[in-house]
Amino acid sequence: SVVENLKEKLISQAQEVSRLRSELGGTDLEKLRDRLTVENERLRQELRRCEAELQGLRAQPAVAAAAAPCPGCEHSQESAQLRDKLSQLQLEVAENKGVLSELNLEVQQKTDRLAEVELRLKDCLAEKAQEEERLSRRLRDSHETIASLRAQSPPVKYVIKTVEVESPKTRQALSESQARNQHLQEQVAMQRQVLKEMEQQLQSSHQLTTQLRAQIAMYEAELERAHGQMLEEMQSLEEDKNRAIEEAFARAQVEMKAVHENLAIGQAIEEVNSNNQELLRKYRRELQLRKKCHNELVRLKGNIRVIARVRPVTKEDGEGPEATNAVTFDPDDDSIIHLLHKGKPVSFELDKVFSPWASQQDVFQEVQALVTSCIDGFNVCIFAYGQTGAGKTYTMEGTPENPGINQRALQLLFSEVQEKASDWEYNITVSAAEIYNEVLRDLLGKEPQEKLEIRLCPDGSGQLYVPGLTEFRVQSVDDINKVFEFGHTNRTTEFTNLNEHSSRSHALLIVTVRGTDCSTGLRTTGKLNLVDLAGSERVGKSGAEGSRLREAQHINKSLSALGDVIAALRSRQGHVPFRNSKLTYLLQDSLSGDSKTLMVVQVSPVEKNTSETLYSLKFAERVRSVELGPGARRTELGSWSSQEHLEWEPACQAPQPSARAHSAPGSGTTSRAGSIRRKLQPSA
Ligand code: ADP
Ligand code: MG
Repeated sequence: SVVENLKEKLISQAQEVSRLRSELGGTDLEKLRDRLTVENERLRQELRRCEAELQGLRAQPAVAAAAAPCPGCEHSQESAQLRDKLSQLQLEVAENKGVLSELNLEVQQKTDRLAEVELRLKDCLAEKAQEEERLSRRLRDSHETIASLRAQSPPVKYVIKTVEVESPKTRQALSESQARNQHLQEQVAMQRQVLKEMEQQLQSSHQLTTQLRAQIAMYEAELERAHGQMLEEMQSLEEDKNRAIEEAFARAQVEMKAVHENLAIGQAIEEVNSNNQELLRKYRRELQLRKKCHNELVRLKGNIRVIARVRPVTKEDGEGPEATNAVTFDPDDDSIIHLLHKGKPVSFELDKVFSPWASQQDVFQEVQALVTSCIDGFNVCIFAYGQTGAGKTYTMEGTPENPGINQRALQLLFSEVQEKASDWEYNITVSAAEIYNEVLRDLLGKEPQEKLEIRLCPDGSGQLYVPGLTEFRVQSVDDINKVFEFGHTNRTTEFTNLNEHSSRSHALLIVTVRGTDCSTGLRTTGKLNLVDLAGSERVGKSGAEGSRLREAQHINKSLSALGDVIAALRSRQGHVPFRNSKLTYLLQDSLSGDSKTLMVVQVSPVEKNTSETLYSLKFAERVRSVELGPGARRTELGSWSSQEHLEWEPACQAPQPSARAHSAPGSGTTSRAGSIRRKLQPSA
């Protein structure tokens, strides 16, 4: 059937081609062209005939003119008729010429169009050829297919046969199939219907979806708007909060200010400040007052105080009756000491008595006030008096493990000075000297052998100074220890028997405290003289010879001089014999005026020393009793005054007490301190 189909198609194509060809050949234009060509040809022939006729006619009139003598003959009439006819024909020719040119133009146009049409025709022909080619190719293919189908013909035949054989069956099957087909088609139709419905549903659901989407978009927009609104609200709330906080803060500040104003805190602060100033003033006044009170107290107690210290019995005291204790104390009164001398009890009253059980600290406690008064600008002397071995050096220097007054005093000075460091600036210097056989030596100098002189200041101020006396600035206890060590070394190298030597010489430690009040510029200078005196034991004139006798005489002289000076000071005599010994002369500044002196009388408790103990205690009591001045004790003063060493020196005036503490630098009455300061710090 495919073959037949193809054949049919081929035939129809061929018919189509011939139709197209005839159509192409018989176009109006071609027909018109042909017609016009024919017409043209006819007209040309007529024109040629007419011309030939005209020629014939032209030849006739010349014959006629020659034969003219007969007018009105029938030839002339005929000629006129011919002439009319000629002109008529000529008109006709002219007309035909116009028509011809028109026709020629038309022909030209037609020819152009024809050329165009020919071109189109050519294109169509080419197309047609292609189509033909295609068709012939298909035909060829079809032929090939047919041939191949023909080659397959036996199975087809077999199939046809089988089909023919099975035809009824097949027909039945066909009908069944058709029925099924019908049914299936129905089903398909149904399914189509369902599909259609579903499509409709889908469409509706699509619509719904788009609707819903639109709604969602709307909701989202709404949500976004709400979110934006919320954010805005939050921001505005935040701003409100901040504003509220600021307002509250401002309000609080205002309130605070108001409260401040109400409570007048500013004023209070000012008041406090002025109060502080006032307090500072008061404090300064208090300081002065304290000084005065201290002065007064010391004066009441006595500018010169005498205490006794009894050392414990030591191994050196030996054994036996000689080493028995001869000293007892009053349990109710610490100023009483009982001595059993050669079987007789003797009692003495001093400012204070320290038993052997008193510690270094206990003793220091007693002298502490004196030491600190040095910071306030007072001059202080502390003497250790007593026979050799009674404990003078122990009390003043002590042992490394248990230091005495010297080190403790300096320690206290340092700590006191540090406490006042916010208001005061202090400078503490130390000198060490010894007096042996009335010769003064510098224990810290490079040449300890050198004799130092005590000189009057050349400026006529009446102040004394020691040219060449070394002064060390100390800033710590360590520095002091170094100074002591240095002094000791000097002494040790100088003297082979230091113990013996030291017992026969006076050792002086001179501490100078110079202070400047940072706020007022007020300056003070206080001096602390710590003196370990030579042994007070008396040397029997018979038992001593040569140098030993000379030593004893010097010691006796200087100790007597000290006693005399103290006695003179305590009885407030006009004249004090300072110049009778190097020691009193050197300590003149620190003994006179409102200076304070403490005499520690060292006592050995053992039986064998009772004579010296008695002598020492008598010295102590005499020194102390002098102070009580007018009254019962004056007799004692009289007895002391009658001593052979007491001398008067009317030329030497004690400086006015009140001037000391507040003396301006350099102009003070502290002549010795001034002299040393001048010597060591010329620029000061
Ligand atoms: P001085 O210097 O008066 O000659 P020392 O100070 O050298 O006497 O004392 C003589 C001895 O007695 C030393 O061995 C010393 O240690 C000892 N001594 C003195 N006083 C005391 C005391 N209070 N406690 C303990 N031992 C003391
Ligand atoms: Mg000693």
